Amino acid sequence: MKRIILIFILCLVAPAFAAKPRAVVIFYADDLGYGDTSVYGQPKVPTANLEALAREGCRFMDAHSATPICTPSRFSLLTGRYAFRRPGTRILDGDAKLILPVEGSGEENVTLPVLMKRAGYRTAAIGKWHLGLGDGEGAIDWNGEIKPSPRETGFDHSFVMAATADRVPCVFIENGTVAGLDKDDPIEVSYDSVERKWSDEITARTNPELLKEWGRPSDRQHDKTIIDGISRIGHMRGGEASRWKDQDLADRITAEAEAFIREAAGEPIFLYFATNDIHVPRDPNMRFRGKSGLGIRGDATVQMDDSLGRIRKALKENGYEDALFIFTSDNGPKVSDGYEDGARDAWAEENPAAPFTGGKYTVREGGTRIPMIVAWPGHVRPGTVNRALISQTDFARSLAKIVGADVPDGACSDSQELSCVILGESEKGRESLVEQPAWGPWGYRKGAWKLIDTPEPQLYFLDDDPAESRNLAAEHPAKADELRSELRGLTRGARL
Ligand code: CA
Repeated sequence: MKRIILIFILCLVAPAFAAKPRAVVIFYADDLGYGDTSVYGQPKVPTANLEALAREGCRFMDAHSATPICTPSRFSLLTGRYAFRRPGTRILDGDAKLILPVEGSGEENVTLPVLMKRAGYRTAAIGKWHLGLGDGEGAIDWNGEIKPSPRETGFDHSFVMAATADRVPCVFIENGTVAGLDKDDPIEVSYDSVERKWSDEITARTNPELLKEWGRPSDRQHDKTIIDGISRIGHMRGGEASRWKDQDLADRITAEAEAFIREAAGEPIFLYFATNDIHVPRDPNMRFRGKSGLGIRGDATVQMDDSLGRIRKALKENGYEDALFIFTSDNGPKVSDGYEDGARDAWAEENPAAPFTGGKYTVREGGTRIPMIVAWPGHVRPGTVNRALISQTDFARSLAKIVGADVPDGACSDSQELSCVILGESEKGRESLVEQPAWGPWGYRKGAWKLIDTPEPQLYFLDDDPAESRNLAAEHPAKADELRSELRGLTRGARL
């Protein structure tokens, strides 16, 4: 008891006296499931750098992304708000308008990067963006200045993909302009729902012989313009010199992160690094091929682990040995997601969400329960495990507390200040959590209880039944009613 009281007191006073980390890094994996890596129990996918991170830090067992899909999870992480507060926060196309509040649009709209900036950090977003670009007043000018871009949301520096690797445009945008663009070869982008936007457009339907073996579409969404041997969602022409090569994508963004760390020369930095791995299309560099026992999808995870190792090495070599490093994923796994890349066969006997069920797009636990590891030398106890319920929505207030930034009234309104949990000092996390769906019924967690709000409610007790296989609603009708009424109260008026 005395020890608990002491820890409680330390938690109250420690953040006020603790030194601030000189680097705060969020390494955001894409579509990586709870059971996808060796560090969470998948022996066929070796992730040595993640294992090293776990040995130096704390591994979380009940951490959640806000939703089971890319865009709204990112929105929640960066705003500290449930994504359903903003109607229409769903998976965005590559030409969608920016949905993140711009800096200066009101104190209640303050974002995590703005809070970090105010605390004296030089901020950067590198990798996948997928939060829209431009103000929606007319089409985005891919050949001029794109504004607003991440720069206007609090990032001093940005080098990003507009959306996903399976969506056009397949170029990087560096501080508001397309990197490496040849002005004589302007870019055009369209998401018209036509088979072919231009008479000379090369698509998976017109020229399937140009597709790489693992770049063949498995649905009618991913069968448009072929770029680098892979057909994409949407139509693109021009910009040949600026197009990325998928096999170099991870190396390119990792090199940008290394350069940002190097050039910051010891100044306090906040790096939001969002890798494309292991989202489709999976086309990892040849040096990672065959490095996992689970095909191209496992190999992409080994590539992700390489990026993580390189960024941590760059931090250590450039005076950021004390970095607060957070590794996590934006949603659960989806083995086959638009391409015939062999993943379905390779993973036929595996569960990338193990021991949970479901995955990307679902409100079963596998949809939002994601891997999360936090290390901060001298602050987070090495080799520990934390079972608290925590959401990425809580990063905003918790990181603000750690770096000493004031959160204005009304801002980050769904974010809970759980710095003691993030630093592994406490296992007292959230009491409850809304699990926003991609579509369909909502999920809700309260302690180990889980409700799925279908017409006949589903109630599970996860401590005994992580796979959500035994519906206890008939046995515990009062508990089911309690959770349903709380969930409906919290999400009243929400529109997906
Ligand atoms: Ca994702």
